[in-house]
Amino acid sequence: MAVPILKAVKVTKRYGKFTAVNGVTLDIMPGTVHSVIGPNGAGKTTLFHTLTGSTPISEGSILVEGEEVSHLPGYKRVRKGLARSFQVTSLFPNLSVRENLRLAAQGTRPTQAFNPWRRAESMTAACELADSLLAQLNLHGVAERITGELSHGQQRRLEVGMAMAGRPKVIFLDEPTSGMGIDDIAEMKRLIHGLRDSYTVLLIEHNMDIVMDISDSITVMQQGQVLAEGKPDVIRSDERVRRAYLGSM
Ligand code: ATP
Repeated sequence: MAVPILKAVKVTKRYGKFTAVNGVTLDIMPGTVHSVIGPNGAGKTTLFHTLTGSTPISEGSILVEGEEVSHLPGYKRVRKGLARSFQVTSLFPNLSVRENLRLAAQGTRPTQAFNPWRRAESMTAACELADSLLAQLNLHGVAERITGELSHGQQRRLEVGMAMAGRPKVIFLDEPTSGMGIDDIAEMKRLIHGLRDSYTVLLIEHNMDIVMDISDSITVMQQGQVLAEGKPDVIRSDERVRRAYLGSM
């Protein structure tokens, strides 16, 4: 039987007296797109924060391939294979698209040219990885363009590419299609669907058409807890989910 690549066991996050995530247990299987959905304020983003180490966990445990990471800082969880795609902030706007990807592939920031934590084995490997990512992201046509000049949809794809360049095990995507038009949504959908071949994806997404089309599993959250979990058709026909999330499906 396949072992979860990421496991959350009774994860709880409190802000003072308020419990934003309440005893959430999740098994994320390798090579899948696992979506987390639920109404506004359900605790989805807070769950992402606790899993990636952006905020400390209050209770419970988090395991990457069976290894406890619950109390590791975020940067150490990155080394364990958890990568979060951050909006725009992860991009260097004055560098070209290709340069951004090369830097991410090297695990290097521009001010740290000799950072010993290079993930790519060599400059050549980083360049090759950047080239293949440009194709996957459908950004080869704008490879030499300054990143700050890209369209919103192109920037969001590049952010996903920056996460991919670190060759993580799990990529966390928080509303990757927000604010996009139809064509960019279709591109992003194609990209996320293809990520399964090499990565595992944990996705927060409000667009139910996307969620139902590309997810292997869905967890529905409500008021910090797991309301339901299953394959898209199971979730779609779950009466409790329809009641909690009515009108969106
Ligand atoms: P949305 O779909 O609107 O993004 P969400 O499901 O991602 O919502 P969260 O952003 O995780 O929900 O918020 C869950 C609850 O936790 C909300 O009631 C929110 O106000 C509260 N919350 C989030 N961050 C904090 C914080 N830093 N301090 C206090 N309360 C917080």
